[in-house]
This record gives sequence, structure tokens and C-alpha cells, in this order.
Amino acid sequence: MLKTDVVVIGAGAVGCAIARELSKYKINVTVVDKNEDVGGDASKSNSAIIHTGYDAAPGTLESQLVVAANPMYDEITKDLDVPFKRIGAILPAITDEQFEKLPEIKEKAFRNHVYDVEFKTKEELLEMEPELNPEVKGGLFIPRESIIDPFILVQAMAENANANGVEFMLGTKVTDIKTENGKIKSVVTTAGEIETKYVINSAGLYCDEIAEMVGKAEYKVVARKGQFYILDNKTSCQVNYIVLPIPTKVTKGKLMCPTIHGNMLVGPTAEDQESKVDKSTSTEGLESIATDVRNLVPNVNLRDTITQYSGLRPNRNPEGLNFDMYDDLEGYINLSGVRSTGLTLSVAMGKYVVQQMMYHGANLEFKDNFISKRKGIIKFCEQPVEVQDALIKENPLYGNVICRCETITEAEIVQAINRPIGAKSVDAVKRRVRAGMGRCQGGFCGPKVIEILARELNCAPEDINKNNPGSYMVTGRSRV
Ligand SMILES: Cc1cc2nc3c(=O)[nH]c(=O)nc-3n(C[C@H](O)[C@H](O)[C@H](O)COP(=O)(O)OP(=O)(O)OC[C@H]3O[C@@H](n4cnc5c(N)ncnc54)[C@H](O)[C@@H]3O)c2cc1C
Repeated sequence: MLKTDVVVIGAGAVGCAIARELSKYKINVTVVDKNEDVGGDASKSNSAIIHTGYDAAPGTLESQLVVAANPMYDEITKDLDVPFKRIGAILPAITDEQFEKLPEIKEKAFRNHVYDVEFKTKEELLEMEPELNPEVKGGLFIPRESIIDPFILVQAMAENANANGVEFMLGTKVTDIKTENGKIKSVVTTAGEIETKYVINSAGLYCDEIAEMVGKAEYKVVARKGQFYILDNKTSCQVNYIVLPIPTKVTKGKLMCPTIHGNMLVGPTAEDQESKVDKSTSTEGLESIATDVRNLVPNVNLRDTITQYSGLRPNRNPEGLNFDMYDDLEGYINLSGVRSTGLTLSVAMGKYVVQQMMYHGANLEFKDNFISKRKGIIKFCEQPVEVQDALIKENPLYGNVICRCETITEAEIVQAINRPIGAKSVDAVKRRVRAGMGRCQGGFCGPKVIEILARELNCAPEDINKNNPGSYMVTGRSRV
């Protein structure tokens, strides 16, 4: 039987942040995920905003963690080489009724200790954001709302945790948890049983099913779908800031913002559903985004859509972010309701979990050889010509552009595959180096990426999946 000290269930943002934090200490950690790649479910399909917590419910754990997390991103994104920009958000009031709500929103931000929210006049807002609805009455500016590459963030935390000794068991589903005398004993997985002292349930949408395995299912997960449009990076109408609507109790609302790579993101919806797997988009959902966002940015050009997608928020009933440890079940830590701000708060949750383990008796000693930094894959297209020339001389694969839309070279794709916790599928390559993220969405480079994956992984092209097993892309030889 495999043996470890801590099993973290889930390699999404939260699980990987916890694993990285634990890797600073002398303790054995294994992360188990049913997916073939790190990156989670919700963690790879969100708005990619690092929030300030200005609109969280004051006094809650969620508010505490989001507010604590936001300032951590300056350092963590430098240390782990993650694309991140503090572009700021604006919250325009379009109607008189919305205008009247602004003081209340600013006061709520203050109660959340977000003190840098400023009122902006109509003129100031239109100067900052010329594409804003000219009917705007005034609004708020939230300077530290930021954008990030959510895929790279999670990969970077996982890679860095791995460099510090954390084991990753991917494509491995947890099917049961065994306990003995009120203590955690082992985790049963599709790849065998793992003896462990601690289990951390960071399974997102499935955290209720994991909790059920230890008789702690005091809640049910209700997936809350969010649909999005992604617009081409050359679309005619662009915004400089995260343009947010006045939030409601259910959702932060439908926004428009630049992504870290220069596309425009428009959405999301907030639709509760029974299914934890239905990630379809719908005409109704997409039309509701169009209507709401046109109210903020009338010229938004949805004809420049290059793709649509949806993500499922792991919402919980009863609602709210919960952290639980139990007197009658030593070694079990349950996280649930990591809903709309989980990408942001993940880094603070990592620290929170470790501190709570210590309060509950874990004897965690710092390692003196923790590696705090991780280097990402060099983006060829962002280098000056002299550097590009030198790279091609050093490695001719830099001279072969595979993804024309995003100018991604073969050398970058090969590195994505061969790094520790490397890419094994077409989507995993896409999320590491952006091959297939451009206007043609992989129409041109898809077959070439399959070929490179098959060559590097030493298998047949028919064995290469889009993402998880069974999602194969070719059934035999084609003309390419
Ligand atoms: C539409 C939308 C917009 C959002 N916008 C933002 C935003 O702008 N900013 C922000 O901070 N947050 C945002 N969020 C929220 C954020 O994405 C989530 O809160 C966060 O990603 C949750 O991370 P997680 O690691 O808990 O879950 P996940 O990313 O879902 O990871 C859970 C992992 O557990 C694994 N797992 C589950 N069951 C098992 C099992 N039995 N065995 C093994 N593995 C298992 C899954 O495979 C998965 O990889 C948004 C979410 C959505 C859907």
C-alpha cells in the first residue's frame, strides 16, 4: 500500500495552493485528481479575476480570505512566473437607482477593509473607459481588481509543489475513505489504496460526495453555471478595465474585461442546475449576456466571438464558504462552497489550512531547502528579434511556428509536454502555451499538436485525447 502523511483531493486552484503551502514543511503530501491534468474543473473556466473582496459579505471566512489573498499576488506571480496585471475595475451606475446604491457598495467595501475604492464622476469614467454607455451617471473605481492567467497559476503552484517533493497522482479517482477509531486511515483510489494521516477535501463540485464517504455530508453541492463569450483580440470595441455591473445577491453579474492575453471576455451567467457535468452553452444564456453587457458597453461586438464556454461554480446548499474539521474525525479537513472567488482566495486558503492543521496538533517543521521560485516557458512571440534569433540558433524548433494565430513554436509545445507534470492532451498543451487559443481555435494547428504529442509521448496519434480518456480526436490516418 502507498503511504503518505497528507492526501489532498483535487488539483484545482485550491488543492494546488494547499499542496504548495504544505511543501514548505517537512511532511509528505500526495495530490490525487480524477482528471488527467492539473487545473481543476471550476479553476479552468472562470472570469480569471483576482478580486479584492470589496463586495463579499463582511465578517465571513470568504471575505477574510479574499481580502488577505489579493495583496499576495504581487509576490506569488513574480516567484512563480505567472502572467498577472493590476488593471483595476470600474463599477458604472447607468440608472439613477444604481447611482443611489454606490455609497452602500463603497461602505460595504470599507467593512471588508477594502479602503481604496474611489468614487468617479461621469466625465472621469468616460475618459478612463471611452466605450462605456454615455448614459453613465458616475461610478466606483476599484484599483486592485486584477487579471491573471488562471491555467498558468494552477500549473505553476502544482509544478512548484512538485519541485518541493509533492507527489501528483492524476487520472486517479478517490472512491472511498477508510477511518479507524475516529481517525483517518486511508484513501481508496482507482490506482490503489493510500495510507494517510490527513485527508483534505478540496474536490470542488464533488466535495459533497467525498464528505459522504466519511459521513460528513451536511450539505449538497449545487452547480451554478456561468456562460461566456471570448472575443478576438482585434475586436473593434475594447475596454481597458474590468467593467462590472452593480452586483446582486446571487451573482457579481455580467461583465466585460480584457483577458491577460488581450482578448475580451464577456459574461458570465449564473444558472443553478442539477448536473455537475453539463457545461453546454445556450442561446438563452448567451442572449442574456448580450443584453446585460450592451447596457454597460453598447458597442460590444459579439460578431467577433472566437469561442464560447461555460464553467460550473461549486455552490453549496446551505450557501457559503465553509472550512470544517471535526472532533470525532481526526485528520479530516473539509472545504465546501468555494464558489465565485475560489481562484483568488486559493493562495490564502493554502495558508489557512496549514495554520488550522497546526492549531489542531500537527507538528509542522519548516524545510530549510524550500524552492520558492519556478520559471515558466519562454514566450517566443514576446521576445525581441535578437533573442528570437538566439533561441532559434540554440534550438531550431523555435523556428517552426505551429500555432499561427498565437505564434507558438514547436519548441514551446515540446517543453509543455516534457516538463514535470507535463501536457498529455491537446487541451493540456493549449492551457500551457496557448496553441489553439487564437482565432481559428486549433483548426490549423490541432493536427500538428496531435502529431507532436504522439511523437514526444511515444504513442500513436489515435491515443491522443482532447482532454480526459475517451476524448480521442482521430481514429486513423488522415492526409496530414
Ligand atoms: C463562471 C465562473 C466564474 C468565476 N470567476 C471567478 C473569478 O473571476 N475569480 C475568482 O477568484 N474565482 C472565480 N470563480 C470561482 C473559481 O473558479 C472557483 O471557486 C475555484 O476554481 C474552485 O477551485 P477548486 O480547486 O476548489 O475546485 P476545482 O477547480 O473544481 O477543482 C476540484 C478538483 O477536484 C477533483 N475531484 C473531484 N472529485 C474527485 C474525486 N472523487 N477523486 C479525485 N479528484 C476529484 C476534480 O477533478 C477537480 O480537478 C468562477 C467560477 C465560475 C464557474
